[in-house]
Amino acid sequence: MTVGERLREAAAALGPGASTGRLDVELLMAHALGTSRTGLLLRHMRDEAPAGFEQLFARRRAGEPVAYIMGRTEFWGLDLAVSPAVLIPRADSETLVEAARAAFAGRAPPRRVLDCGTGSGALLLAALTLFPGAEGLGIDRSDEALAVAQANAGRTGLAARARFALADWDAPGWDEGFGTFDLVLANPPYVEDDAELEAVVRDHEPPGALFAGPEGLDAYRVLVPQLPRLLAPEGVALVEIGSRQDGAVSAIAAAAGLSARLHRDLAGRPRALEMRDSGNISLGKGPSDH
Ligand code: GLN
Repeated sequence: MTVGERLREAAAALGPGASTGRLDVELLMAHALGTSRTGLLLRHMRDEAPAGFEQLFARRRAGEPVAYIMGRTEFWGLDLAVSPAVLIPRADSETLVEAARAAFAGRAPPRRVLDCGTGSGALLLAALTLFPGAEGLGIDRSDEALAVAQANAGRTGLAARARFALADWDAPGWDEGFGTFDLVLANPPYVEDDAELEAVVRDHEPPGALFAGPEGLDAYRVLVPQLPRLLAPEGVALVEIGSRQDGAVSAIAAAAGLSARLHRDLAGRPRALEMRDSGNISLGKGPSDH
């Protein structure tokens, strides 16, 4: 059987319910052939289908995410390693990187960046790509995640500007000696404990990166009140939120003395809050004293 025939069969076997079925089998076939998806489509469709595809495809059929099967994914144009120890970076989270770009447009770019719950390192490494003069610190409470993030810093050529540390914002003194940051990023867990997630997420991705109490707000309640201490003067925090958490997380921010501005993802859903010290908001914008 040719590669082209096997792809058609395999996509059909995943059924119409698999929205990314055709894409998934192309990615796995390219992986089995040791080429890119473009290389596959341009050069290999009439080759004999490789035996190595079958094992990869069996895992996909059993419900495993393609990113874990391949051990890699793409975020903000970066090729990142992923393992089941880390959440698979979502395109939705690129909203935070775009918002960071906008937040520093026309003023001095951030020099110190903190990523809280860095996981694969995706947000931190994207920010370091965006701001070539910046240094970054990524923290996580999972050692295994930090190993993935460190590997990704090397893989993307950013290791000289990225540091990682084991830390848990639930623990008193977790940020001792960190200093302050011009940009703080966070994609904390925010899913309600009893939410009905797709099996591909629920059965494979790390629960600690997803679930945050009955309303999915537990991580915000602990982390957001600590942001004023972490932010340098005129610093900005960008925090990912669930699409229905805008009001609740804005209220948590307001109680912490932070203003919050909403950013939507490409589908138009609320996806990130840009937070600043409320006292700083009018800096340079108010009427002059003179
Ligand atoms: N957006 C992710 C999902 O819906 C959740 C990510 C998170 O909790 N930080 O699966």
